[in-house]
Amino acid sequence: MEFIIASHNQKKIREMDAILGALGISFSPLPEGAPEPEETGTTFEENALIKAQAACQLTGKPAIADDSGLAVEALDGAPGIYSARYCEGSDADRNAFLLRKMEAVPDGSRQAKFVSAIACAFPNGDTLTVRGECPGEILRELHGEGGFGYDPLFWYDEAGCTFAELSAEQKNRVSHRARALQKMKQVLGEYYAEQ
Ligand code: IMP
Repeated sequence: MEFIIASHNQKKIREMDAILGALGISFSPLPEGAPEPEETGTTFEENALIKAQAACQLTGKPAIADDSGLAVEALDGAPGIYSARYCEGSDADRNAFLLRKMEAVPDGSRQAKFVSAIACAFPNGDTLTVRGECPGEILRELHGEGGFGYDPLFWYDEAGCTFAELSAEQKNRVSHRARALQKMKQVLGEYYAEQ
C-alpha cells in the first residue's frame, strides 16, 4: 500500500517510514510543485485533515499529513496552531517573543505541551485522525543546540533537560509526533483489518 505524505520534510518522511513502515506501507512525497492548501482549520486535527485530503484528492492515493505546535497553559493554549507564525522572523525570534509574553508567568505556572495531530485520507472518503501530546515546561532561557523551533525552551522533566538537549533518536522516541505516529500505527492497523 502506497501513501502520499503531504510534506517535503525529509525528517518527517523518515520518521513516518520508521514507525508506519511496519504495516507494509510505503511512502512517497507530494509531487514537486503541488499546491499547498490553506490551513484554515481552528484545530491541529482540522489542519492535518485539510492537508491529507488535499494530497489525496490531488493524487488519487491514500495520503497522510501532520500538524503540530506548542500550547502554553498560561497563554490559553497559544501559540497553538499559529506556532510556526507566532511572530515574523526566525525560530530565535519566536523564542524571544514567547519569553517576553511569559515574563510575568511565575515558575510553577509555566506548563506547556507539544501537540501533533496526524490525519489519513482515503480515496473512498474515509478519514482517520489521531493526536499525540508531550508535556513540559517553558524555561526562562534557551538551553541546548539540537532540534528546532521551541525545543531550547521546552523542559522535558522525564529526561531532565530540554528537547534541544536530547539526541534526535531520544527525541524521536518521546516526542508528540512519535506518540501520534504510534497511535496512528494502531488505528491504521485496525482500519485495514476491518477492510
Ligand atoms: P509543523 O506542523 O511541523 O509545521 O510545525 C509547526 C510549528 O510548531 C513549527 O514551526 C515549530 O515552531 C513548532 N513545533 C512543532 N513541532 C516542534 C518540535 O518538535 N520542536 C519544536 N517546535 C516544534
